[in-house]
Amino acid sequence: MTGLINIGQYVVSNLISQTKHSDPMPIPFLRTTLTSLREMVAPSHCELCGKYMGSREERMKYVCNSCLDSLDAPPTPKELFKRVSRNFTNDDLSFASIFSLVSAEHDSPIMELLYSMKYRGISRIGYEFGKEIGETLRHLGLSDFEMIIPVPIHKARKRERGYNQSDYIASGISQVLGIPLVLETVIRSRYTTSQTTLSAAERKVNVLGAFAAGRNKAMIKGKKLLLVDDVFTTGTTLNSCATALLEIGALRVDVATLAAAA
Ligand SMILES: [Zn+2]
Repeated sequence: MTGLINIGQYVVSNLISQTKHSDPMPIPFLRTTLTSLREMVAPSHCELCGKYMGSREERMKYVCNSCLDSLDAPPTPKELFKRVSRNFTNDDLSFASIFSLVSAEHDSPIMELLYSMKYRGISRIGYEFGKEIGETLRHLGLSDFEMIIPVPIHKARKRERGYNQSDYIASGISQVLGIPLVLETVIRSRYTTSQTTLSAAERKVNVLGAFAAGRNKAMIKGKKLLLVDDVFTTGTTLNSCATALLEIGALRVDVATLAAAA
């Protein structure tokens, strides 16, 4: 519990510092903070089915056991990597492996949750799922990383939403594995249009060169990184970000996402 609050403060204080430096419109930040406060004091209900979650038997906050059990099992890292490999040549592919916690169709409950995380400010769900990802990676023996890096969103989009949901997923992983979360090693230098309606080829062009070195770039030199995002679809955004990290000097980049789009 203490860890959760600490991590929350860490991410929130990070948002505050960014608000002071560059954000003339603190309203989205305020809205996110108020939503977080409400989440802390309101009785807990399942975000998917609305069931009251007073029981100590629930494995996770915000999502009840029966909803958790209804989520589809993910493809194995090997299957996912095969899927990515179809979209890239060996020379183009910048990450070494990929892991996803669940599989998700467009209209699946997990996608509704991700939508909640992005647009309703329910950021702590991301943190809870991040902890699940961390536990699973440890269980699979896939935790040989030195830093956890969330895929950044453009600062204009961060202003709209108030936060980056990948930061929260990465926080949960960081907390469980005891590996530091480092922000701003890379930044999203271009405001890319939404990828959802684009073909695989169009996605590649859309995110090409969308990432640039951030102020903490020196920290990743020679390091093994775990790059974290909410959804894996074709892998183009993740690959573009991983390419930027390698160009800055990372030794290796592996990827973990909450969901793999089916
Ligand atoms: Zn439920």
